[in-house]
Amino acid sequence: MKKNSGLMTPEYLQGLRDCVPAGQVRLNEDMALHTTFRLGGPADVFVCPTSADELSAVLKYLAKQPIPLLIIGRGSNLIVRDGGIRGVVVKLGEGFDHVTIEGTYITAEAGVALAALSWKAAEASLAGFEFAAGIPGSLGGALVMNAGAYGGEMCQVVDWVDCMDRGGNVRRRSNAEMEYAYRHSILHDTDEIAIGAGLNLRAGVRE
Ligand SMILES: Cc1cc2nc3c(=O)[nH]c(=O)nc-3n(C[C@H](O)[C@H](O)[C@H](O)COP(=O)(O)OP(=O)(O)OC[C@H]3O[C@@H](n4cnc5c(N)ncnc54)[C@H](O)[C@@H]3O)c2cc1C
Repeated sequence: MKKNSGLMTPEYLQGLRDCVPAGQVRLNEDMALHTTFRLGGPADVFVCPTSADELSAVLKYLAKQPIPLLIIGRGSNLIVRDGGIRGVVVKLGEGFDHVTIEGTYITAEAGVALAALSWKAAEASLAGFEFAAGIPGSLGGALVMNAGAYGGEMCQVVDWVDCMDRGGNVRRRSNAEMEYAYRHSILHDTDEIAIGAGLNLRAGVRE
């Protein structure tokens, strides 16, 4: 690799590659491909886990060395400099985006696009998530910052959020335990990663 934080030896990178299926660890990944504004230089190492188990393995491995780690979703609230990002970027996106709908209840993984989830809810004649249709982020990013629009916000629909700490351990936080406030949640303080959520919607009428 051309540039890295100096700690990433070939052995270290191989250990990281062993955490996820082939092709999910990339070097010198152009961050412009992963930000809404299509700006930003290369990340030293870019990892795309497709399950909580893979993410947990990656985090447990990364915890062994002091290499900077940035979690991203759809990059709609990120400006990356031309010089790029030193360390490891972990993206929760494609493959980390399973959704199930049972009645008025949605269970979804963090990587699903918020707008796509809003449309899925509408197609299932569910109400209460229309506000999210124009927000260009991921569910994970929205859960962390209590994204909202048009008077609606995530804290109005969240039942629980599965949160992974930097050691790869998961705990389920209730809505109250998320300590939601305006564009804020407790995850800003704990550094946990939102990996999925249960959302309570209402029966609506599809027009
Ligand atoms: C054109 C435009 C319109 C927008 N409109 C709105 C709006 O109406 N309402 C609104 O609230 N916001 C809006 N935003 C801001 C943005 O879409 C939201 O903040 C969104 O929730 C960010 O999600 P993301 O997946 O893109 O996060 P990213 O940009 O990828 O990351 C943003 C931050 O969240 C952290 N993060 C991301 N995913 C996770 C995760 N799973 N766990 C822990 N931390 C995580 C990252 O580390 C980073 O610090 C808008 C942005 C743009 C560009």
